[in-house]
Amino acid sequence: MAVETVVPAASANGGKLGPAVNEKDAEKLRFIEEMTADADAVQEKVLEEILTRNAETEYLRRYELGGATDRATFKAKVPVVTYEDLQPEIQRIANGDRSAILSAHPISEFLTSSGTSAGERKLMPTIKEELDRRQLLYSLLMPVMNLYVPGLDKGKGLYFLFVKSETKTPGGLTARPVLTSYYKSDHFKSRPYDPYNVYTSPTAAILCSDSFQSMYAQMLCGLLQRLDVLRVGAVFASGLLRAIRFLQLHWQELSHDIASGSLTAKVTDPSIRAAVSELLVEPDQELARFVAAEGRKGDWAGIITRIWPNTKYLDVIVTGTMAQYIPTLEYYSGGLPMACTMYASSECYFGLNLKPMCDPSEVSYTIMPNMAYFEFLLHGHPLQQGKAPKLVDLAHVEVGKEYELVITTYAGLNRYRVGDILRVTGFHNAAPQFRFIRRKNVLLSIESDKTDESELQKAVESASALLRPYGASVVEYTSHAYTKSIPGHYVVYWELLAKVGGSAEALAAALARDGVMERCCLAMEEALNSVYRQSRVADGSIGPLEIRVVTGGTFEELMDYAISRGASINQYKVPRCITFPPILELLDSRVVSEHFSPALPRWSPHPKN
Ligand code: AMP
Repeated sequence: MAVETVVPAASANGGKLGPAVNEKDAEKLRFIEEMTADADAVQEKVLEEILTRNAETEYLRRYELGGATDRATFKAKVPVVTYEDLQPEIQRIANGDRSAILSAHPISEFLTSSGTSAGERKLMPTIKEELDRRQLLYSLLMPVMNLYVPGLDKGKGLYFLFVKSETKTPGGLTARPVLTSYYKSDHFKSRPYDPYNVYTSPTAAILCSDSFQSMYAQMLCGLLQRLDVLRVGAVFASGLLRAIRFLQLHWQELSHDIASGSLTAKVTDPSIRAAVSELLVEPDQELARFVAAEGRKGDWAGIITRIWPNTKYLDVIVTGTMAQYIPTLEYYSGGLPMACTMYASSECYFGLNLKPMCDPSEVSYTIMPNMAYFEFLLHGHPLQQGKAPKLVDLAHVEVGKEYELVITTYAGLNRYRVGDILRVTGFHNAAPQFRFIRRKNVLLSIESDKTDESELQKAVESASALLRPYGASVVEYTSHAYTKSIPGHYVVYWELLAKVGGSAEALAAALARDGVMERCCLAMEEALNSVYRQSRVADGSIGPLEIRVVTGGTFEELMDYAISRGASINQYKVPRCITFPPILELLDSRVVSEHFSPALPRWSPHPKN
């Protein structure tokens, strides 16, 4: 579908962003220009501010900066750390120690990252004013988008946004995901009217933690206002695909509600009912017939533009692990552009894409130098024991090189390794632009879950213990994130070894009789981290784990294949995750049986339960 876009002036205007569509946007674009024009000076000032305000924290006092706030002293004295290094401090804060351990400002809550440590979500301390910083980054997105897509004030955005469950630490601090914190804040709830940011979803629906009621109401409101919708989005691609799946499953009920002019009794939340009743005022037979006709067709190609014909683009992140969903989104949207607007994390919001309508493969994010103090560890150069790593400043990274992101935040993380690997693609003014390459150590991911190699290994070990009574073991395994169906699920390929003298057929029969392989699937799920289990249990955003048993010798064939393509026999290691289609085809052609997890793994919003 052709999308009307204006040619942005970013290139035609000496690299400057503009012209803005109105004075408010012009002010925001000027802000971006100012921050990026003097990135190095902004960074120097940010570090000075952070070190001045946090000088008396227990953490910084430990490194005896002696009141210094300059980069050289900071780099010489403060170590580069990981989450695990900070865990004792974080645990004390979680347990209720209110002294200035990491931050001079009181820790207002913990943000629960989708990154895990020892199987649990990482807890990121945050302070109240960080909300303003996040808000500031959000406020830059539409002024940039307006440079490329005109008329977005003439309609609405259909955004599927959700809150997740929250919990309290032993010391009474709230712990919840950063977006839950943001949607529940006054910054979001009491946002002033802005014609460029009108959503079809009522705030009450976004804030309902029951995911069915929330999704149902958001979808219904999106259908009721279908001709107003100019952009369709979710935070990540996986979220938008879940919404489409929901439509596939519930179009009949939705159409029925539209025909009757009344909301299903399944939605019980009174504030959602009140909000929806403002839109669903009377029966609309024509719309109901339209929704039912689309659903009944059973052909979902291009469904987004069929139902929301004025959609100009999809607003979803499809960089990083989400790139696996691009073909599916293309199918459902009939090839609408996909805008990846920002790059952010629980630790800190980093930056934005100044060319949001570019192809997903071309996306680069410009880190905003005012958000935190940023350093970059050259990737691929192992740290030497006892030697302080040399980190490069934001303004001094080199085009083409890959770095690991290290941040120092106002909330009290000092020289913290985020774990993201970024490649420098260019500069906007003096601020570098980065392509997101990958998150370190992530082997499998369906949505926000991140499973690393050691977690997969642990899960296989734990499950394969169930084979022991049968004299069998797993000789080799590998995995694949299966995303052709929604929700996606983990597929783990196992090659089994029968006990000496036992036949593969006899083993398979015994295992099938006792349902052992299904129990192995569940045992693997039980052993995976809490983000995985939450996605399975609370969100339903990951389907049951599948084990595909392959015939004996398959992994040797895999090695032969790799060697035929130039791998060295000496160095060959079984890849623990496969994405390369020919190898997947080879594996699938050797599958002798498929098994799915028969139940949900245990999960509780309270860690360690
Ligand atoms: P979380 O800790 O759950 O807030 O997740 C933050 C992580 O999500 C980041 O460190 C990245 O690894 C990933 N992420 C966030 N934004 C993007 C993006 N635009 N593209 C790719 N990955 C992203």
